[in-house]
Amino acid sequence: MIEQYLTPDTPAQALELKRQHGSEAIWFAGGSKINAAPTKTDKTVAISLGKLNFSHIEQQGDSLHIGAMCHIQQLIDHELVPVALKQSAAFIYSRHIRNQATLGGEIAARQPEALLVPSLIALRAKLKLANGQEMDVEDYINSEERELIATVIIPDRNLTCIGYNIARSAAGLAIVTAAVSIDKQGNKVIALDGVSPLHQGAARPVRLRDVEAQDLKGELLEQAVADAIYPEADIRGSVEYKRYIAGVVITDLMAECQHLVEEA
Ligand SMILES: Cc1cc2nc3c(=O)[nH]c(=O)nc-3n(C[C@H](O)[C@H](O)[C@H](O)COP(=O)(O)OP(=O)(O)OC[C@H]3O[C@@H](n4cnc5c(N)ncnc54)[C@H](O)[C@@H]3O)c2cc1C
Repeated sequence: MIEQYLTPDTPAQALELKRQHGSEAIWFAGGSKINAAPTKTDKTVAISLGKLNFSHIEQQGDSLHIGAMCHIQQLIDHELVPVALKQSAAFIYSRHIRNQATLGGEIAARQPEALLVPSLIALRAKLKLANGQEMDVEDYINSEERELIATVIIPDRNLTCIGYNIARSAAGLAIVTAAVSIDKQGNKVIALDGVSPLHQGAARPVRLRDVEAQDLKGELLEQAVADAIYPEADIRGSVEYKRYIAGVVITDLMAECQHLVEEA
């Protein structure tokens, strides 16, 4: 149960408080996850990110810098945010949650469905951490540490990128969430969530680099995706179904993305 709620004014103060309280402390962003059953935290110290000025959205050349405390609904409403990120923000069905949850929380929370992360990987997003370090979003989710995220950087906000989410109903659990991008040189990114072995109770989003490099389409791409993933069977579907549907979704997205590149 949270017994202390600390409200630092600067990232340096926040990092110092985390150093002082160590594993007893947790970053408190929107609080939608750590303050609600069944995901309520057992930590006793909450360090609020509310006063850290992490809520900006600003264009710098071709890149877009999005503060980690931007609420998910803000992404949908903001004109500079790439369409693929708006699309994936809308995969979070409840507007109440979109108003409360933040971009940083969505990346850092280890949750059974990471609806924005495939699009962030496909957009080649980088994270600027409060300690000054910069890392790919993919490396962050694969590391055990959860360093404080200050800003999400989309290096090219005009990169052609699209995403899709398969669920049984609009409010249902995501079965597979996918995103692909193709840059001006033809380099592709394929990212998926919901298709990897569980780690701490959740599938981790993955990037299929080997499949990207093969430059396939149609049934060959479907099969290559199905062979490259290792989903687990659960209430959402069998291993065979998840492999099949992931292959179909990626193949359709890639064809659509290629079409968009040619039109541009
Ligand atoms: C009723 C309900 C329904 C939900 N439905 C969905 C859904 O449909 N789709 C979905 O994806 N999620 C859903 N969630 C989960 C939740 O909304 C997400 O996990 C959310 O994005 C968390 O964001 P937050 O800002 O509220 O994070 P918090 O709850 O404040 O924190 C979550 C975790 O992230 C860490 N964290 C937060 N910000 C940062 C940062 N900047 N740097 C480092 N670590 C940080 C915190 O320390 C904590 O461990 C739901 C939750 C609830 C309660």
